[in-house]
Amino acid sequence: MSDVDGLDDLLARAAERPRALARPELAALLAMDDEAGIQSLFDAAYALKVKYCGKRVAMRGIVEAGNVCAKDCYYCGIRKSNENLQRYQLSADEIVRLAELDAKQDYASLVIQSGEIESEAHTRFIEDVLRRIAPLDLGVTLSLGEQTEETYRRWKEAGAARYLLRIETSNPKLYATLHPAGHSWERRVECLRALRRCGYQVGTGVMCGLPGQTYDDLARDIEFFAEMDVDMIGMGPYIPHPDTPLGVLSAKCLVPSAWCLVPSAEQEKVLSAKCLVPSAELKHEDLSESNAPSTTAPSTKHQALTLGLKMIAVTRLHLHDVNIAAATALQALAPDGRERGIHAGANVIMPNITDTKYRRSYQLYAGKPCLDENAGLCKGCLERRLAAIGETVDYGHRGDSLHFSKRTRGSASLPEPRMRGSASLPEGGAE
Ligand code: SF4
Repeated sequence: MSDVDGLDDLLARAAERPRALARPELAALLAMDDEAGIQSLFDAAYALKVKYCGKRVAMRGIVEAGNVCAKDCYYCGIRKSNENLQRYQLSADEIVRLAELDAKQDYASLVIQSGEIESEAHTRFIEDVLRRIAPLDLGVTLSLGEQTEETYRRWKEAGAARYLLRIETSNPKLYATLHPAGHSWERRVECLRALRRCGYQVGTGVMCGLPGQTYDDLARDIEFFAEMDVDMIGMGPYIPHPDTPLGVLSAKCLVPSAWCLVPSAEQEKVLSAKCLVPSAELKHEDLSESNAPSTTAPSTKHQALTLGLKMIAVTRLHLHDVNIAAATALQALAPDGRERGIHAGANVIMPNITDTKYRRSYQLYAGKPCLDENAGLCKGCLERRLAAIGETVDYGHRGDSLHFSKRTRGSASLPEPRMRGSASLPEGGAE
């Protein structure tokens, strides 16, 4: 017997047509904690994943192009105030070489991500990289933060097809507790709109299990994805980083539940760390609300993982045909976290192809896995892991968002699986 009344009917209604559930129903699914009910949720979401994407997983090799960032988000390991890491920026030649490696792996898609830099020099640098990798015929996703619409347009014209800009939370008040003054939730939303106008496949996402976050917030996040009509979702559990104000607060018991997510090797470092932000600026009183019973704050790794998986499953049930990534952060909570993400409804995995010498300097959260595995090892490892759950890597296919194809082609029917370079489904032409 599930703790959600009429669970079977609710799941059937959600599977029948997209956007069928009201916010309280989304929140009830997210808050569910009986194992049989959660498994039914995962099974329903996975059936939809198989219906829309088959038993195939799209790969995007990630290049972490640089960890210099002008922003200071309280939760992020590469925030500009963190002095405990070495800053780096890959050269254009290095990024092109990694893009060639990605093409050789036959992933057919590439993600270039870095901290946020807004300057003409940076815009031109990325344009140059995009033009140089264009002959590789990869589906290129950028994740380079907030920029002007003109910059987004230039990068689109230079060859980028997709852009991922996470809103982190759709609740502006919660957003304000996670960012210093001058980091504007409204600008982030406006950037998502600008990306849409420029013709990108647009992706966004949130963190799950944030201090002060409620199930209603997460349900609202899923409604936000629907309202923004996004094509791709990338989200994951919030994992505290020891060199961040929010990580330190987690350890110092203001947000005790998040402490369980910090790997034991990092815990001593966290306890000896100082909060890097004046207390008046970081809203302690808001964060301490996380002890209220309605919040999502997990008290074990298992709970954090389950919350992340439920968020994937409920998002799949509500939106049906979007691309959803099984975030690497899931693997930080359990060795098979990403495979479980696929079985909860995700259809994309993003293996890191950055040279291992840079990976320790790009830790957005503590305990990030695969720091020492090169791209070849990652490929073999993922292949085996996916085969073990009855899925295959969709080599040679870009794995574009079905939702994007439908909204830009005005077609109600689902397109055939897309081959890279296929004349029947132009990548750039449809956008
Ligand atoms: S979350 Fe993004 S914008 Fe914020 S500090 Fe980290 S890299 Fe910079």
